[in-house]
Amino acid sequence: MTQTYDAIVIGAGVSGLYSLYRLRELGLDTRVFEAGTGLGGTWYWNRYPGARFDSESYTYQYSFSEELIDEWEWSEHFAAQPEIERYLHFVADKFDLKPHIELNARVATVRYDDDKHWTVETEDGRRARARFVIAATGLLSAHQLPDYEGVEDFAGQSLHTARWPKETIDFSGKRVGIIGSGPTAVQIIQEIAAEAGHLFVFQRTANWCTPLRNRPIDPEEQRDLKARAAEIFEICKRTFAGFLHGEHSVPGEGVPKVERWAHYQELYDEGGFALWLGNYSDTFTNAEIAGEVAEFLAEKIRERVDDPETAEKLIPKSHTFGTKRCPGERDYYEQFNRDNVSLIDLRATPITRITEDGIETGDTHRDLDVIIYATGFQALTGELMRMDIYGEGGRSLREHWSDGPKTNLGIQFSGFPNMFAVLGPHNPATFCNITRCAENNVDWIVGCIRYMRENGYETVVTTAEAEEAWTQRCYDSLKGLLIEQMQDSWFFGTNNDENIRGRFLLFAGGVPLYREIFADVAAKGYEGFELR
Ligand code: NAP
Repeated sequence: MTQTYDAIVIGAGVSGLYSLYRLRELGLDTRVFEAGTGLGGTWYWNRYPGARFDSESYTYQYSFSEELIDEWEWSEHFAAQPEIERYLHFVADKFDLKPHIELNARVATVRYDDDKHWTVETEDGRRARARFVIAATGLLSAHQLPDYEGVEDFAGQSLHTARWPKETIDFSGKRVGIIGSGPTAVQIIQEIAAEAGHLFVFQRTANWCTPLRNRPIDPEEQRDLKARAAEIFEICKRTFAGFLHGEHSVPGEGVPKVERWAHYQELYDEGGFALWLGNYSDTFTNAEIAGEVAEFLAEKIRERVDDPETAEKLIPKSHTFGTKRCPGERDYYEQFNRDNVSLIDLRATPITRITEDGIETGDTHRDLDVIIYATGFQALTGELMRMDIYGEGGRSLREHWSDGPKTNLGIQFSGFPNMFAVLGPHNPATFCNITRCAENNVDWIVGCIRYMRENGYETVVTTAEAEEAWTQRCYDSLKGLLIEQMQDSWFFGTNNDENIRGRFLLFAGGVPLYREIFADVAAKGYEGFELR
């Protein structure tokens, strides 16, 4: 028999767990379907060595429960994956969420029926129905393997960082090849370089990495962070990207160069996203200022990497500072001073194929025991597109998005009533604080459902006009930003299907404005949404 619930949540990661908590609080009988054999979403799948927060633990944690904040102690300023996974289990246990989560339940089909209910079916044939569906499928979930010839032929061990096995992998003495040099690759390279027999880093595009400066939280800091938790969350509501680091109130232009340089050094010493997000107010709009920060970082790379030729390869040439997410690093650049680490520049010699024994670039073949794919995700739309989602009249989401994704507020699609995506395309979360955005969006969704119940409405669906307007507003939010010139990133869906590639997938107006827009839409009785 197909069980009927009030709401079904897809995914038990940060936003799925919070959705479940809030929906149950509202009194909705809610079921969660989670593909993993454990909860945690991103922090379940990405268990590669070195995986950790790139923003401060106490800004990433949930803010909704003072008791939770009091009871949980982060051991480091930037906690590592095992601790984050433990935290999410702690949350699930504390709020008795686990009995409502079905694990190992990858959703294959989501279909809207004539009786205004959604039927959800998992790959292994489990079925359930509900009036509301919340896709809490994350923004970086659909992992991406490159389409090189021979990927399937490699006889050694192949690993994708987002499908990392639970058992410890022994790299000692092994010849390891890693493809990718994004934030994930940077984290894992630092961790395994010393252990591997030889590590070959296959880099297509270098990134502007900034120091993370992680350290343990001492008891005094612990007390202080707990006492200031509310204040910290308030700061995160006011800063552009929802982190502690808010942009400087003055533009760099007009400040003497020597002063600017000292400012960059201060931010470099501070760590985390300070250099990227706490910089002069024109860092994202003024090519000269961004170029100068790039010059500052290039100098650091040259100081830290012994071989000048390798240093030049590690300095990005195709994009200026700030236009892609900056990987946080500890001693990334120093790894390239090891005799057992080689950097292969794929711009000069692209990969021609993967063989049974290793990787071929031009006429060079490197024998390998392990290949690690740190090649990223089909960002934002990937997981939604991997499911078969059919809305009103049997129209599929793929069809609806055949000319690129269209959303209202990043959370609803026209023709898909009572379906919400917590962190769908066109929300700011990707270069912002994900938990802060997830909490904002879930609160809005649950508030909308509460409003419907109180006012006797059965369904809510965005109008096509409001959807067009929001999608356009997201494209417009890019204007004047240097990011617009750097379209070769997952912000623009580089790994996604052709109809999505090249379209800006975020809202770049910042968290405070986004929050304001959400509150305003709700205050106006869900303007742009049709309540039936
Ligand atoms: P990514 O930023 O998309 O990087 C993927 C890397 O793989 C890039 O270097 C890319 O090169 C390379 N690549 C992709 N396809 C390739 C191919 N066919 N051949 C050679 N190289 C290829 O992915 P990611 O590093 O997993 O990070 C994604 C996002 O996840 C980050 O921006 C960040 O938001 C998030 N993240 C967060 C944390 C954290 O919170 N602690 C940690 C890791 C990641 P190109 O640049 O040339 O395409």
